Amino acid sequence: MTPKLAVFKLASCDGCQLTLLDCEDELLTLAGKVDIAHFLEASSAVGPGPYDLTLVEGSVTTAADAERIRRIRAESKHLVTIGACATAGGIQALRNFADVAEFRSVVYARPDYIDTLATSTPVSAHVDVDFELRGCPIDRGQLLEVITAFLAGRKPQIPDHSVCFACKQRGTVCVTVAHGTPCLGPVTHAGCGAICPAYGRGCYGCFGPAGTVNLPALIPLLRRDGMDDRDTERFLRTFNATAFAKEAGS
Ligand code: SF4
Ligand code: SF4
Repeated sequence: MTPKLAVFKLASCDGCQLTLLDCEDELLTLAGKVDIAHFLEASSAVGPGPYDLTLVEGSVTTAADAERIRRIRAESKHLVTIGACATAGGIQALRNFADVAEFRSVVYARPDYIDTLATSTPVSAHVDVDFELRGCPIDRGQLLEVITAFLAGRKPQIPDHSVCFACKQRGTVCVTVAHGTPCLGPVTHAGCGAICPAYGRGCYGCFGPAGTVNLPALIPLLRRDGMDDRDTERFLRTFNATAFAKEAGS
C-alpha cells in the first residue's frame, strides 16, 4: 500500500513547509512514491489518517494547539518535527523570558481577542517525536534524507557536528580567528552549509545546538571580541533561544 504523508502547521511562518515545496524536481518523484494525504500549504484536499509519516512545523503556543498535537500524534505512525519553531519553540519563544501579558497589551489593539499560552514550546514537550530536523528554515537536502529514510525504514543520516566542521569542509577562512568576528558556529548544528561565514559574517545559530556543545568555552571568545553579558544573551536568544538557554543552564 502507498504510504501516507501528512504535513501539519502550528505557530510558524510556513518557511519550513515552503522548503518541501522548494524541492521541485524531487517532489514529483516523491509524489509518485507517497500519498500526500494532508498538506494544506499545497492542496485543500484533505485525506483522513492514520498517516505513515507526519511532518509538523511550528511550536505550541495555544491550549488548542496543545490538544491538536496530541490528536496528530495519535494518528501518526512516525512524527518528525521540522524547523526551529517545532524543535525549540522558535523566535516566538522569546516570550518565555518575558511577560506575555505585557507583550499582548503593547502589541495588539484588542489584547482581549488574543488567546495564547505564556510560553512557546517545542512539539517534543507535548508528545513523543521520532526525529527532530533543525534549522530556520530547514535544509531541503536534509529534509529529503529524512523523508527517504523513514519511507525506507532506516535511521536518517543527519550529522550532528558543528558549523565549524562545514566551514572547514568548504575552505572558508574563520571569521573569528581572522577578523575577531563573534560567531556561534562552534556550538551550532550543521545543516546550512556554513553560509554566513562564507560571506564574512558570524554564524547566528539558526540550526540550534550541535550534538556536542561546549558553550562555556565559547563565552570568553565572545568577550574577547567585544560582547558583554547583554550582547551575549541577545546573540543566543534568536531562533533557538530555549535550546541554547538549556545548554547554558539558564
Ligand atoms: S523554523 Fe523558521 S522558517 Fe521554519 S517555520 Fe519557524 S520561523 Fe519559519
Ligand atoms: S567562522 Fe565560525 S563556524 Fe567557521 S570555523 Fe570560525 S568559528 Fe567556526
